[in-house]
Amino acid sequence: MAISELRFLVAEDHEFQRRIVVALLAQLGAQTIHEASDGRVALAIVQDPARPIDIVISDLEMPGMDGMEFIRHLGESGAKVSLVIASALERKLIASIATMTEAYGIKLLGIVEKPLTADKLLALLQRHDASAAPAARSAKASLAFTLDEIVEGLRNDEFEPFFQPKVDVATQKVKGAEALARWRHPQHGIVAPFAFIPLLEQHRLIDDLTAVMLRRSAAMCSSWRAGGMDVTVSVNLSLVSLSDVRLADRITKIVREQDLDPHHMVLEVTESAATTDLAKVLENLARLRVKGFGLSIDDYGTGYSSMQQLSRIAFTELKIDQAFVANATREESARVILGSSLDMARKLNISAVAEGVETRADWDLLVQLGCEQAQGYLIAKPMDVIAFQDWARSWTGLH
Ligand code: C2E
Ligand code: CA
Ligand code: CA
Repeated sequence: MAISELRFLVAEDHEFQRRIVVALLAQLGAQTIHEASDGRVALAIVQDPARPIDIVISDLEMPGMDGMEFIRHLGESGAKVSLVIASALERKLIASIATMTEAYGIKLLGIVEKPLTADKLLALLQRHDASAAPAARSAKASLAFTLDEIVEGLRNDEFEPFFQPKVDVATQKVKGAEALARWRHPQHGIVAPFAFIPLLEQHRLIDDLTAVMLRRSAAMCSSWRAGGMDVTVSVNLSLVSLSDVRLADRITKIVREQDLDPHHMVLEVTESAATTDLAKVLENLARLRVKGFGLSIDDYGTGYSSMQQLSRIAFTELKIDQAFVANATREESARVILGSSLDMARKLNISAVAEGVETRADWDLLVQLGCEQAQGYLIAKPMDVIAFQDWARSWTGLH
């Protein structure tokens, strides 16, 4: 197939680098080129039926959803794309990522070391053969759901929150739990959010899921508190929902109906470039604060300054993205961002939560840096409500 007929997606966080790749592709004759500044955006494009993609050119190191996670989701979604990895990382590391990519069932055209040139790129693009479907698909590759299936699942009440604990770093006490959406699918078992949230967001149906999450999470938190557990519950909000000025009142109503005081619920919002309705978003956030909800800025460090402005006004909690936490013990730059995020939270007098805490070394660094709360696999994975309650009863701290 001629390059002019292929559809490209360039996933790269550095705007300048991204422009170079786009320019090179255009030079080689490409006519359809989409761009994404991180894996999350890239995944949304790949899953958008309106924007079919043949070849993805992706960086590995991106904030938010990095290249590796993006590749995993690509594999699990069964997307029929070929991949070119562009990276400045050392060869050995790239080689292991290539193996990983193939294990996820993605057709890897090859790896180009940065800086990219037209020649290097062309050599790889010539390996693309649209007729050759990827050979090995991972087991979950068939798990691409249609909007109708998801809506049907919602109608049948198949969605529920899993809970992941947030613990106080100094005392190791459980302070709260984040509710993470799961689909208990009658055939496929537990399905993770990437398989349904992007589609629901694109079709403006995410509020239906949010309502379920709010209602169930509020009900659980209310009963935990009645049982003597002094915890909060955190629920994720999509930024798209915040463009509707009625949102704050709807949320408040749902939560109060479950006998939960909004002071015991935290709403997590991810920084994003797509804050088109800044005024309305602000109105909603302000109203939610007035009602007593805590507001958390999710994936902190990966987003955009507009939300950092907002954080000064309305946010009560800063959740530091797992990318900075996971890399902080190894990389000076990640450690600096982690440290300065914690400083900023202290100065603004808001709580700081480190997410993605996976190792004892991560934990020790958080202790040393004076981070207030931690969340991650080291403490516990997200669990269904029964497992969470059992876990909370038997938790006595790290050993
Ligand atoms: P998030 O809000 O950043 O949630 C944290 C994600 O990191 C969760 O993935 C969690 O399972 C995972 N995680 C927790 N600890 C660790 C760790 O130590 N290491 C690593 N590598 N990962 C860890 P999950 O459950 O797949 O959720 C993915 C994303 O989907 C969430 O990211 C959130 O943006 C979105 N999401 C989940 N539930 C909802 C929801 O009800 N509404 C909306 N709008 N978005 C949701
Ligand atoms: Ca979150
Ligand atoms: Ca997060």
